[in-house]
Order: sequence, then C-alpha cells, then structure tokens
Amino acid sequence: MKGLDLRICHLYPELMNIYGDRGNVIALVRRCAWRGIEVTVGALSLGDPLDPGRYDLYFIGGGQDREQMLVCEDLSTEKGEALREAVEGGAALLSICGGYQLLGKSFLTWTGEYLPGISLFDVETVGGDTRFIGNVAVRCELEGAEGVLVGFENHSGRTRLGPGCRPLGRVLSGHGNNGEDGTEGCVYRKAVGTYLHGSLLPKNPRLADWLILNALRRRHDLEGLPPLDDSLEQAAHGAALALVRRERRLPARAARKRSP
Ligand code: GLN
Repeated sequence: MKGLDLRICHLYPELMNIYGDRGNVIALVRRCAWRGIEVTVGALSLGDPLDPGRYDLYFIGGGQDREQMLVCEDLSTEKGEALREAVEGGAALLSICGGYQLLGKSFLTWTGEYLPGISLFDVETVGGDTRFIGNVAVRCELEGAEGVLVGFENHSGRTRLGPGCRPLGRVLSGHGNNGEDGTEGCVYRKAVGTYLHGSLLPKNPRLADWLILNALRRRHDLEGLPPLDDSLEQAAHGAALALVRRERRLPARAARKRSP
C-alpha cells in the first residue's frame, strides 16, 4: 500500500500501561508495516501539548486510580478539549479501562475521589467495593469488526452509557461495563472505549484493522485493507476463548458459532 502513512499517538505511555496495553500499539505498527503502510508513533505525556490535526489514531491504556488522578489533571487543561476536537475531526481512538474511564464524563472512585473526564464519551463511572477480574468474551457490534472479542478485565469502576454513545458489544462471559446491563465498552464516531486488556489487539485483529482503516481514512481515500495471514492471531484468539470456556462461563457451542 505505497503512499499511505499513519500517525499514531500513544498517550501517557509510562503512566497508563497495565496488563500489556502497550502491545496494542505494537500490533497496530506491525499490521501497518506488513502492508507497506508507513507508520510513525509519537508519545505525549504530562504537560505535552496536543495538536488536534497531527495524529490519525490515539491510544491510551489502563492505569491505577493514582495514575488516573495525574492524567485527569493533565487532561483538564486545553489538552482534553484538543483530544475531543481530534476525534470530531475524524481521528480514530482506542482507550482501555482506566483510559476509557477518563474519556467519559466522570469517575468517582471507591475511596471517594471525583475525577472529571473530558466527556468525549457519554459515560459515567462509579467505583464499586469489589473488582471485576477475569477473562472476558464479548460479541462485538462494531460495523466491519463483528465477531467475538477476547480479553482480560480488572476494574472496580462500573460504567453506565448515556444516549450519546453505543456499546462496543454484548458480554458473553465476564462483567463488561458494569456487570448488570450486559454491555461492554462504548463507541462514539471512530473512538472506542473498552475494559479489555490483554493485549487486546494482537488477538483481536479485526478490531485492529477497523482502527487502522478508519484512522487512514482521515487523510486517505481508501475502500479497505488487504487481508493478512492471521493464523497466529487466530490461534491466540482461540486459546483465550478456550480459557473462557474452561472456566465454564461460556457454552462451547455459542463460542464456536461466533468465533471470527
Ligand atoms: N482504576 C480503575 C478501576 O479500578 C481502572 C483500572 C484499570 O485500568 N485496569 O476501575
């Protein structure tokens, strides 16, 4: 795919990176490189200004409440506004767990700290007295990335979606947004929030390609991406799904029928 280039921005890489979240950026870079797409990765952290026209794809990983407080303060400057502007202008974005929570309207931690979000996503999060921990399988409803997503969740936050965004998918096994309404993650324009760590993208290549394609479309006119040999990725996906099945939280038949 000569002549195509993608600019990725990794937000707060040293603060928001748990359960292998950094692997998502590696997966995006590799999948671009395998297709001959020129890719650059910039990193922005505390105090660094964000130019909303510069990047095609933003990534922010998960973090503990303590790191989230630092990032929350940093995003409460014009940087949060600039990130919203970037998404409104057509940039794609993936946010995981703690990062996802900070892009919503607010996160009230279990210990009573109120963290205002940047309101990119119409979601609110409240910490609970127990943590949702374990392997997760989700039926993804994202157009062009349908199938089963697999990942790992560990969060105390319970997230509720408002009418301004839609869920990323429905929980097949695990807890998802709040353990009650069956939803997992959220989608607004080309921005995705999810509780799935893992790393998520290496074993969910359809979602990786959805992000790459939509990010490229910000500056390039293209129909789709050429397929890659995803046999290793599918094997990783299958192994994660087998784990979920072994935990007897997902009937084998449903999992098999919906595997990508
Ligand atoms: N601190 C947040 C919570 O517990 C996010 C945790 C995470 O990113 N894994 O809900």
